[in-house]
Amino acid sequence: MAVTEPSFRDSVNLMVDRAMAVVDVDPGTAAAIKSCAAVLQVQFPVKIRGRIEVFTGWRAVHSMHRLPAKGGIRYAPYADQDEVEALAALMTYKCAIVDVPFGGSKGALLIDPSRYEREEMELITRRFTLELVRRGFLSPAINVPAPDVGTGQREMAWMADTYKHLHPEDINYVACVTGKPVHHGGIRGRVEATGRGVQYALREFFRHPEDVRRAGLEGGLEGKRIVIQGLGNVGYHAAKFLSEEDGARIVAVIERDGALINEAGVAIEDLYQHMVQHRSIRNFPGARFEADGKAVLEMPCDILIPAALESQITLDNAPRIQARLIAEAANGPVTYGADEILNKKGVVILPDAYVNAGGVTVSYFEWIRNISHIRFGRMQRRHDELRGRQFADMVEEATGNALPAGLRDSISRGADELDLVRSGLDDTMRLAYQEIRRVYLEEAGVQDLRTASYVVAIRKIARSYLDIGVY
Ligand code: NAD
Repeated sequence: MAVTEPSFRDSVNLMVDRAMAVVDVDPGTAAAIKSCAAVLQVQFPVKIRGRIEVFTGWRAVHSMHRLPAKGGIRYAPYADQDEVEALAALMTYKCAIVDVPFGGSKGALLIDPSRYEREEMELITRRFTLELVRRGFLSPAINVPAPDVGTGQREMAWMADTYKHLHPEDINYVACVTGKPVHHGGIRGRVEATGRGVQYALREFFRHPEDVRRAGLEGGLEGKRIVIQGLGNVGYHAAKFLSEEDGARIVAVIERDGALINEAGVAIEDLYQHMVQHRSIRNFPGARFEADGKAVLEMPCDILIPAALESQITLDNAPRIQARLIAEAANGPVTYGADEILNKKGVVILPDAYVNAGGVTVSYFEWIRNISHIRFGRMQRRHDELRGRQFADMVEEATGNALPAGLRDSISRGADELDLVRSGLDDTMRLAYQEIRRVYLEEAGVQDLRTASYVVAIRKIARSYLDIGVY
């Protein structure tokens, strides 16, 4: 008989409890940190093809110790309140881990987007936005959504536009959602930010040979065999950057309709274009197709990157997982019970609340760009270029030698918005990992990186409760 596992929300709470046992917070503060502050459920009718359909959506606000509360909105046919609350809680801890000064929130709409035309999706999204705005669950100061599974720039643009029509007097209206298209107030580098963050997290992990050895691996990312589940926004970018820029080999890609395996490495960009065209990974010429996708999670590999959904590694398949390192690009891909099994097996897990924080980090940059009403780099780029050129001239004059052209160009180039976003994201992912590993290495009772991450988060949140007080 299959053993039932705790719900996603309970699973997150059980993981947090392991960290609470290490951190010296009083039970009241611990309960306040773990509780979900508010959950809104809305049901609203929309007329589609001459018939009225009623849609159900949620927005959970897990914490408000910092405002706005931040978190994605997903569109999925399986969404429910438990999942939304679990994801909102993860956002609280995630923001604390990477020092993004936001509370945690998350939303979902119960819908299968593939059943609707573009105009219908726009109508539904605008109506959902209206419900959220009316009830104070969407605004630049209080609650700021972003894309997640099933949503992207398009939905964010509709949401921002709907808010603008409702609140034209709000000078910061464009900051009411992040993940917008660049020409509608978005920021360069947001679309790929979560995948880029996964890459930066793995790069940082491999800068610490001691940590790499603990996972039973050696060397750098070059040549590492990676299995990735989900080739959507997060998975596609992570797999593309890791293979094209770091020389890792993506030996398997698992999607909803099966998996593709190629020991020499799957060409990610080719596969992605194939998926865009055919809406399936089937019949891709560059790899062997395997119908039982989920079984491929158990394939031997160096790094497993679940980047699709929660609860993919469970009590059932955890004993058979052969990866040495798991980078949780998705939220909650490993259940509480599976986590315990994997820890006992010595599998190192880079936890979701750290690994996929690149999205919210760059959303934070976008929000700052929006409320400051200016593109990053606009004021100083040419000034930096001028100083760089003057410095290069001075060096050439002093040495009597011309600098190599490439070096001269790089010295005299001012940083543009994308450079600054990448630099800020890289810095964030590096510093956060260093803080997590310090706790892991130095504190008694911390036996894995997930617990260490939650210890880091809980301390910061508890401090903010204690500093401000509760009223
Ligand atoms: P997405 O919808 O763009 O991609 C999800 C992909 O997973 C799709 O290609 C889908 O076909 C695939 N998939 C669905 N069910 C599957 C299954 N059973 N097996 C294998 N593949 C399956 O979503 P996304 O934005 O890439 O999000 C993926 C995960 O990352 C989610 O857990 C999400 O919460 C998390 N996340 C996303 C962001 C972001 O910025 N988009 C940020 C942080 C965390």
